[in-house]
Amino acid sequence: SAPVLEIDSLRTWFLTARGIGKAVDGVDLSLSGGETLGVVGESGSGKTMLSLSVLGLVPRPGRIVGGAVRFKGLDLVRASAAELLKVRGNAISMIFQEPMTSLNPVFRVGEQIAEAVRLHRKLGKAEALERARQMLVKVGIPNPDRRLKSYPHEMSGGMRQRVVIAMALALDPDLILADEPTTALDVTIQAEILELMLQLKEERQTAIMLITHDLGVVAQTCQRVAVMYAGKIVEEAPVLALFDEPLHPYTKLLLASVPRIGERRPLAAIGGAVPSLMALPSGCAFHPRCPDAVGFCATEEPALLAMPDGRKVRCLLHTART
Ligand code: SF4
Repeated sequence: SAPVLEIDSLRTWFLTARGIGKAVDGVDLSLSGGETLGVVGESGSGKTMLSLSVLGLVPRPGRIVGGAVRFKGLDLVRASAAELLKVRGNAISMIFQEPMTSLNPVFRVGEQIAEAVRLHRKLGKAEALERARQMLVKVGIPNPDRRLKSYPHEMSGGMRQRVVIAMALALDPDLILADEPTTALDVTIQAEILELMLQLKEERQTAIMLITHDLGVVAQTCQRVAVMYAGKIVEEAPVLALFDEPLHPYTKLLLASVPRIGERRPLAAIGGAVPSLMALPSGCAFHPRCPDAVGFCATEEPALLAMPDGRKVRCLLHTART
């Protein structure tokens, strides 16, 4: 099937007096209906700027300076404000880390979902409220009739995130962008919320782009994963292949820092800091932290190379081998 989302050579830069920060620098990705793609990286890797770019919500002084974001054929980078508004929150829904950013504290939960529905659909108030109730049932909120009348602060973090998901789903979106949707929640609730997202995705064949720093979350939910570092994708692969045999040295380090079930050893931390996007290291941006770096890594810039099995990796050692 035709991809729901196609990101093509996307570049989102911050043009400031101190210099240019290339937050997203030549990213290509595509995503089909019913597919879950994980975008993984440390904070500062550009992954959140990537999701904001898709939504047309890049904060100043950031700007999309090149490339395209096609959503079902419509180029969102060049779309009018009206077209964007129609797509955002309707055909594309967002779920952020902190549910309170998506919920209005002064309105009851039911009213909020109903209003979101009425913004995009011609429904009467009663019908929209009924739709809100159905959605609360769908996301497993007990006592939906009572909960419709609750204010967000009267609910736990996990319940609030369920409400946000209910709101996101009320409009039957084709694409859900979820940025660290479970990071603020404890582990059990996190697993439940991820399970819920997957179940709903199966039912509706929604495409999900999941932005996270947590490879454990990716293993649980995604079919494909793209690893970002310093504004670029450094590896892209099916999840199983990536966990089985990571190709990029950065991916290897990320994986070494994921705890295995029952394991008590301290997590391996990745040495060194994420580089400032204003002052990226020369050559391969990862070279100051890379345990496998060789001399030319500091001078040559690796390209994202497609491997024979369709995986992609951006590392000079792999270029040299093929
Ligand atoms: Fe490490 Fe060199 Fe590969 Fe970069 S190109 S990831 S520095 S080995």
